[in-house]
Amino acid sequence: MKRLLVVLLAAGGAALWWRRRSSGSADETWSAPAPSMSTAVPSGPPKLGGDVDPELLAILACPLDKQPVKREGNYLVCQECQRHYPIRDGIPVMLIDEALTPEQAAAAQA
Ligand SMILES: [Zn+2]
Repeated sequence: MKRLLVVLLAAGGAALWWRRRSSGSADETWSAPAPSMSTAVPSGPPKLGGDVDPELLAILACPLDKQPVKREGNYLVCQECQRHYPIRDGIPVMLIDEALTPEQAAAAQA
C-alpha cells in the first residue's frame, strides 16, 4: 500500500506541474495542493474518517493476511483477523503498526 500511495502522490505532483506549465501564470496551484494528498499535517493529528474512493476501497486488502477489508465507521476492518485500519482524512492507513487489534477496537467502543 505504501507503494500505491507513493504512486498516487507522484501522479498528483505531475498533474500540478502540468497544470502550472499549461496555464502559465497560476501560482495558486502550488500554494494549494490537493488536501486529500497531503501527508504532512502541520498541527495536530489528522481527523479520522472522510470519504474513501470506492475504487480504492475495492482494491485494498489487509497487509497481514491479504484479505479484503470492509468499512465500519472510521475504520477498515479486515474480514480475517478483524484488525481495524484507521481512515485519516479520507486516506486509509493500511499499516499493521497503525491498526487496532480486535481487543483494542472493542475497548475503544466500550
Ligand atoms: Zn487481516
